Amino acid sequence: MKKVDVAIIGAGLAGIFAAYELVVQRPDLEVLLLEQGEPIRSRNCPILQGKVGMCIHCKTCAVMRGFGGAGAFSDGKFNLTTEFGGWLTDYLDSKTVLSLIYDVDAINQKFGATGKWFSTETPEGEAIRKRALACDIHLLDARCKHLGTENNREILMKLYDWLNDHVELSCNTTVSTIIPMKAGQAVSRLNGVEPDCYRLETSKGDVECDILIAAPGRAGAEWFSNACRKLKLPLINNQVDLGVRVELPALVFKDITDAMYEAKLKYMTRGYKDIVRTFCMNPYGYVVTENTDGIMTVNGHSYNDPNLRSENTNFALLVSNRFTEPFNEPYRYGKHIASLSNMLGGGVMMQRLGDLRDGRRTNAHRMSKSFVKPTLDATPGDLSLVLPKRHLDNIIEMLEVLDRLAPGTANSDTLLYGVEVKFYSARLELTNEFETGLRNFFAIGDGAGITRGLSQAGASGLHAARAILKRLNGGE
Ligand SMILES: Cc1cc2nc3c(=O)[nH]c(=O)nc-3n(C[C@H](O)[C@H](O)[C@H](O)COP(=O)(O)OP(=O)(O)OC[C@H]3O[C@@H](n4cnc5c(N)ncnc54)[C@H](O)[C@@H]3O)c2cc1C
Repeated sequence: MKKVDVAIIGAGLAGIFAAYELVVQRPDLEVLLLEQGEPIRSRNCPILQGKVGMCIHCKTCAVMRGFGGAGAFSDGKFNLTTEFGGWLTDYLDSKTVLSLIYDVDAINQKFGATGKWFSTETPEGEAIRKRALACDIHLLDARCKHLGTENNREILMKLYDWLNDHVELSCNTTVSTIIPMKAGQAVSRLNGVEPDCYRLETSKGDVECDILIAAPGRAGAEWFSNACRKLKLPLINNQVDLGVRVELPALVFKDITDAMYEAKLKYMTRGYKDIVRTFCMNPYGYVVTENTDGIMTVNGHSYNDPNLRSENTNFALLVSNRFTEPFNEPYRYGKHIASLSNMLGGGVMMQRLGDLRDGRRTNAHRMSKSFVKPTLDATPGDLSLVLPKRHLDNIIEMLEVLDRLAPGTANSDTLLYGVEVKFYSARLELTNEFETGLRNFFAIGDGAGITRGLSQAGASGLHAARAILKRLNGGE
């Protein structure tokens, strides 16, 4: 059986940055990075390649899985803030989290990331904040670094090549079982025996490691939750965010996106007192489909190269749901709503705001007259048959308020694509070093339910690696 010092499950940003830090500080360590999906250069989705229109349920989904993780096909927006993108401040003070986020950025820059970032802390940002407040909208403070879809992939390729030379990188390898061991016997957390190593059953044979880091992301969240339940590690349920992607002429948000690239705006609706927020703003970008376990949802991205830009800006409008007893499966709820749009539209559905307000379906004829030309070939339809009334009311109210901040937002031709869903994994009980209830078993990133963005995922990897290094160097 293969034996290593540290095994890491998942080569998304969390796993990548953990592996990087471990071997930079201790080149003598044997680190094994196990990834279910393909190496970065072999990741191909038949939909993104234009070969098929619908998900054909590949054995391993190349969009969500593979070296680089869920962010590999994204435009690499790294938010240099603790205000959003995860919950690391529940474990560490804000200063420490921010410093980790800047360390992630510094490493990215070594691999080719731009040094330029956008900020809300400028005179233009202040003016926009003031205008937003006048509409009861709150602009969150942030610095945002936009790598661009093409550069994001380039950087991941360089990270892949570097890690390939310094750790054992095993792609196309699925971990199926985690077994805590003591003196050659499997042990459970409940019998009070601390394991002295972990055995992993993988699709390429068993592996033993002294220290285990699980970084399975959202793609591996269901598997990881089940694995943790079997190990009697307590889990807390997280939320689900549900909404639409809005697409409109880039000119409508130009002064905002020119000043800060992306504006994170929050609003409490008057009707339901729910928080609606803008998310993932893509100036001159494209709306794309995303495959979540075979269900087509919507997302967006934008290129850095001006020659590759569209004429539209897109962003998500999301409403957060946290369920109380007896229901405790927000993931299933989100998937169910998304599957309704797939059932009616054969995939992602699109509707003009004017048609939604008028209570009628958008059809091909109405779309042909639209001044806004969609960047995604979605099915014209009726989102009121898909989204719950509460969500629709919240979204329409937010669009009307946004119209005061950015006139033109609530035009009849504004396009709404549905549905956009952000799933969050159930959260594990962790120490402030991200160690689970089992000694030397750490859990990081989106899969542990503690992050929901690239910067914090990478930061969680760095932090766990540093805690492990301290322990290995006799610090604990
Ligand atoms: C389309 C899209 C665009 C995005 N854009 C942005 C953005 O611009 N900015 C931002 O901040 N965030 C963005 N995000 C979110 C961001 O990608 C995630 O927050 C981040 O990737 C989380 O990193 P992670 O390492 O925790 O998990 P992931 O990146 O999901 O990586 C986990 C990896 O673990 C592997 N894995 C899972 N289970 C197993 C197993 N049993 N055995 C072996 N391997 C396993 C998976 O294959 C996967 O590659 C985007 C997400 C998507 C889907």
